[in-house]
Amino acid sequence: MKIIHHHIGGIEVPSRTGERSPVYNPATGAVTAQLGLADAAEVDLAVAAARKAAPDWAATPPHLRARVMFRLRDLIERHTDRLASIITAEHGKVLSDAKGELARGLEVVEFACGIPQLLKGEFSESVGRGIDSVALRQPLGVVAGITPFNFPAMVPMWMFPVALACGNAFILKPSERDPSLANELALLLREAGLPDGVFNVVHGGKAAVDALLDHPAVDAVSFVGSTPIAEYVHRRATEAGKRVQALGGAKNHMIVMPDADLDQATDALMGAAFGSAGERCMAVSVAVPVGERTAGALIERLLPKVRALRVGPGTDPEAEMGPLVTAAHRDKVAGYIEAGVREGAELLVDGRGLMLQGYEEGFFLGGTVLDRVKPGMACYDDEIFGPVLGIARADDFEAALGLVNDHEFGNGAAIFTRDGDTAQAFLSRVKAGMVGVNVPIPVPMAFHSFGGWKRSLFGDHHVHGPEGVRFYTRLKTGTVRWPKGIRAGASFTMPVHG
Ligand code: NAD
Repeated sequence: MKIIHHHIGGIEVPSRTGERSPVYNPATGAVTAQLGLADAAEVDLAVAAARKAAPDWAATPPHLRARVMFRLRDLIERHTDRLASIITAEHGKVLSDAKGELARGLEVVEFACGIPQLLKGEFSESVGRGIDSVALRQPLGVVAGITPFNFPAMVPMWMFPVALACGNAFILKPSERDPSLANELALLLREAGLPDGVFNVVHGGKAAVDALLDHPAVDAVSFVGSTPIAEYVHRRATEAGKRVQALGGAKNHMIVMPDADLDQATDALMGAAFGSAGERCMAVSVAVPVGERTAGALIERLLPKVRALRVGPGTDPEAEMGPLVTAAHRDKVAGYIEAGVREGAELLVDGRGLMLQGYEEGFFLGGTVLDRVKPGMACYDDEIFGPVLGIARADDFEAALGLVNDHEFGNGAAIFTRDGDTAQAFLSRVKAGMVGVNVPIPVPMAFHSFGGWKRSLFGDHHVHGPEGVRFYTRLKTGTVRWPKGIRAGASFTMPVHG
């Protein structure tokens, strides 16, 4: 049985804790590897390696750090097929989708290639007579990234290209469920010329996370995962004095107005609800048709498409949707469908009990549609994180907007309409961090920043783009007088540069 090790200081480091967790191929249900889980002592090894490497890396000129990113970009592009296979083998998503997440991650690497421009400081000449003022952004030191299972490439790549390009050393603690890609990224970074110890991978669960959150030599923590853990990470790491950005869960609504192009809205819903088996933080999990006629027409278009969804192993080029990540997660999602029916939702398409020939042990669940979901039902209030689309009917725009704004999550939200006033009102008044107008999954490009509102983000900074640069650097302002001799003697009043 393959054992997956940490990557610390440029080499593979086996875990000695004896704690292991199985890694599955979700399409077959087979255990394909065992992951060695770190304890606090092993996390300490990674932090020590990062700490040792950090000063030299911070002192490396930004354009030379950027060149590592340029080389990484080429390497990831060259190895895309292989990396996508690794993602599919452990996550389950279809290969084209795995390549898509690599492409989105690559955009952040490309953004980080421009770091010399992004780190340019500010300078004011003559803030006082003979005095200049300068503002610099400097790296924090050692930063950690704790990432979820659903994007084993893209989410780490939201973080480390910017963190590294800014001059920090990085420790990645990926999800236990699909950990192999992190080690591949470490090897590619090494090949791209990153000095040993600047990027480390430490595997583990709660013990490893807690050790990172508490470690006095970790300066900042970026977290992406579910809301309860994001909130916990934010609290514990801020208590330990660290800078923290913790992105949590979501329940993204898509409002469909009566004037929308319903064919376009239906296709958009299909991809956004069922792509990656709904295991995306920007998946649309609630459709909000406005008016009974819109609801009827939308459902009429939607149901045949959901029934015709091609579910299969991620390696099948014909498959549109793969399995869920684990049997436990598949069962949890199925539990939400059952609870929805119990609570009064109408089950229009039931994806439970799907069995694929040759993949009987795989963690599959078909596309599911629950109509008439409402606040107060678990299937509406909670993030299900599976191929389950809820339909929450609204009488008018205000009621639809109220649903979105009253939900505890505020990651993404979308509206489909042809009316400019409605679109403008939605963009202006919706309480969500990322908003789509006739775009179902409004994920910002790498040179903008990604993040939600409400209980979808704890902390002040969104990830990547300008917010990423701010998060991974700290500001220093210098007030500089070049020696010309001091004429006035000591001053005991507040300095005012006159
Ligand atoms: P998760 O919260 O279970 O795990 C995320 C990370 O936290 C993993 O590295 C895991 O090892 C660690 N962790 C889990 N339990 C912990 C505990 N008790 N103490 C300390 N650390 C712990 O999330 P997941 O199931 O891997 O990922 C799915 C979730 O991530 C969904 O809620 C999804 O919405 C969210 N997500 C959010 C975004 C976003 O941008 N907001 C992006 C991707 C995923």
